[in-house]
Order: sequence, then C-alpha cells, then structure tokens
Amino acid sequence: MQRHYHLWSIGCQMNMADARTLAARLEALGYAPCPKPEHADVLVLNTCVIRQQAEDKITSMLRHLRPYKAKRPEMTLAVMGCMVGKRELPQLQALFPFVDLFLPPSEPDLLLELLQRRELDAAAGALTKTRTGADEWPVLPASAHGRAITAHVPVVLGCSHACSFCVIPSRRGAERSRPREAILSEARRLADEGVREVTLLGQIVDRYGLDLGGGYELADLLLDVAQLPGLARVRFLTSHPNWVHDRLLEVVASHEKLCPYIELPVQAGNDDILKLMRRVYTVQQFRDLVARVRARLPNAGINTDVIVGFPGETEAQFMDTYRLLEELRLDAIHNAQYSERPGTPAARRLPDDVPAAEKERRWQLIEAQGKRILGEKHAALRGQTVQVLVEGRDSKRDRWFGRSPENKLVYFADARDQLGQVVSVRIDWTGPFTLIGHAAEGA
Ligand code: SF4
Repeated sequence: MQRHYHLWSIGCQMNMADARTLAARLEALGYAPCPKPEHADVLVLNTCVIRQQAEDKITSMLRHLRPYKAKRPEMTLAVMGCMVGKRELPQLQALFPFVDLFLPPSEPDLLLELLQRRELDAAAGALTKTRTGADEWPVLPASAHGRAITAHVPVVLGCSHACSFCVIPSRRGAERSRPREAILSEARRLADEGVREVTLLGQIVDRYGLDLGGGYELADLLLDVAQLPGLARVRFLTSHPNWVHDRLLEVVASHEKLCPYIELPVQAGNDDILKLMRRVYTVQQFRDLVARVRARLPNAGINTDVIVGFPGETEAQFMDTYRLLEELRLDAIHNAQYSERPGTPAARRLPDDVPAAEKERRWQLIEAQGKRILGEKHAALRGQTVQVLVEGRDSKRDRWFGRSPENKLVYFADARDQLGQVVSVRIDWTGPFTLIGHAAEGA
C-alpha cells in the first residue's frame, strides 16, 4: 500500500533546502507526497523561530493538528527545524506530548530511522537500524513535483558568530562546511534533473571551507559548480560584511555563469547599535565594502537586511540607518522590526524598549523609502535588454517569469515554451518590485 508524507515548511532558504532533502529521503523510502496533512502517514512541520510571528504560527498549527493525531495515532508526527533547540526540547515535549519526534535543523536521521524500524518490524518482526551517510543523501528529483529550474544547495551549516539578536547559532549549531565532493555531486544530480540555477547557501557563505583547511574556499567552489554541464547560473548567499574578500568578487566578475548578486545584511546604520548587535564592523566599513563590490561588479544587485527598533535605538540612531540606505541606494531591503528571541544575548541583557507603534512607524518609513529608491532605479532599465532565466509561467496573465543575473524579477509574454531558457527581454515597464517586457528580436 502506498504511504504518504506531508511536509509543511516555513522560513529561510536553508529551511527550504532542508525540506527538499527530507522529501528526497522520504521518497527514497517509498513515501509519496500528499497535499492534505490529515491524510498523511508521516507529517512533518519544518519550523522557523526567527520572529515571534513564525513561532506563533507553528504553535497554532500544532494545536489544530492535535485532534487529527488523536483520531489516527498511527500517523507519525514530527517537528523539525529551528524551534527544536536543545534547551527548548523538554518544554516542547511537555507542551506537545502528542508529537512523536522533535528533530533539530538539518538532522532528519532520527525520523528516517524510526520509519525504517517500524517498516522492518512490520515486515519481518526484526529490528534493524540502517543509516545513510549525510553526504549520500538522495536529491529530490526535480521532475517529481513539476520541473524545478532553481534549487538551493547548503554548503555551510550552522554559524559560529554571536550576533546578539540571533537564535541561529543556538539552533543550527557551530559552523561546518560540507565536503566539496558532496556539494558537487548534489549540484550535478540537480543539473541532470533539469535544474538550471543553483544557489549555494550558508549563514555566512563566504566562510565556506575555512573550517576544512587546505585553502579551498567559496570562490573555488563557485568555479567548480559553474563548470557542471546543464547549469546556466550559480548564486551564493548570505554574505557577511566581514568576510567578503576581493578574490571572491573578482572570481564572480570573471565568469559569466556566476551572478553579480550579493546579499549583504547591514542591520543598522549606526555604530553604537552595530556594537550592541555584535556585528563587528562599522558603518564606514560597510560603505567601503559596497564601494568595493561596485568597483568590481558595477551593476551588481546588492540586497540588505535591516532591523528597526533594536533595544535602545533612538530616533537619531534610526535616522542614521535611514540616511545610509538613502546614500547607498541598494537593490532590496529585507526590513524587519526587532523581535526579542528568548535565549539570545540581546534578550538576556537588553530591554526590548522601543514601543511597538514606534517600531511600526520606523518600519513603514524604511519600506516607503525602499519602494521609492527601487522605483527610481528600475525606471533607468526601461528600454534596456536583460537576460532572464525563465523559472515558470504566470498562467493567470499568460506570461513567463524569471530573474535577471542581478536577481530582478521580470515578466514577459512569449508564445514559445521558454521554461528553463535564458531569454533576452527588452524592458517596457518597471515598478519597484517587478519589470515587464517582451522577448527581444531573435531571442
Ligand atoms: S552571522 Fe549573525 S545573524 Fe547571521 S546567522 Fe550568524 S549569528 Fe545569526
């Protein structure tokens, strides 16, 4: 009898990559995906706790699922991801006793072992334990759920930094790079399945390889992945301002498959706040870095993250951030209101003292500013031709969509099947978040 799994996932690209890996391993065990959680034999919630809102969502989902689990106790219910910290585990087990397993991020082995054990018990009454090495994880066939054009490949797991607002080091553990061969074989298999673009992922992706020794670093890995047949593009994220070296930028500039796109979280534009955040760079160092990126990659897409309403942030300090963003005119701002995360250094030492309404006002100001700057920057692209890797079809509006190398979202109409192709698109209309055009002559 066919067994089914349902995998619900929220959060960052690393979580998406974890979900894809788990799906692949479940499918290798013979499970098929099913759309309804209540019909699944195995139900996994892949969690995120970066903000209180995300955590609340998972808690309410678990409450909602409780009666289903009571009705079908044979269903295996697992909670995976950043919610499952070592320190939090006893509390989670007490709050949600009906959950069969809690799995830390990127570590689904316990679940797979349990399923295999149950299967073997049922089939032969035997108890056997098999374990697949982390580096031999199967890759979810792109064709299994419609053709995937882009995919994420984790290359650095965990983080050994200690930014004061961040839960990731305590949930995802110390930084560790995956071996080169494991990454290349995963990327190769994805390319064989029709994926055309891979993004190499790490909390600080620029630190790839430093823990392995031997001098093989992110720039080398990017060049090796870019050689793989079938791939049209390679990206990497997320960078940390202290770890972006000139060689990386030069390598990206030297290879046409490496996208001139970088995610550089600044978090704040005031040195005192950066110190409280333990980011270990100054505003001037960040400015210099943006200048270095632009000197080597003149049209690079540069995205950033900003937190407003950090503990103690005054109006003047917030305005420093506002002015920095005005000056740098970056390409996208992931703008977040500070949300106190239990267990972080900031939660232990700094009172969350900026009122909610004030956080909201600051957030709105940055949102409006970002929208205006992007609207102006994109207007300059009208009449220009950009290379778009086509990721899918917007069937409602009968048009294709994809991204430029700089990560701009582009829509265009074309009667031909362009999925997975790189198409030259002439831009006719621009807005702050999208560009619309038509396939240029001869494309
Ligand atoms: S670098 Fe800082 S913000 Fe990024 S994952 Fe590590 S601790 Fe968190």
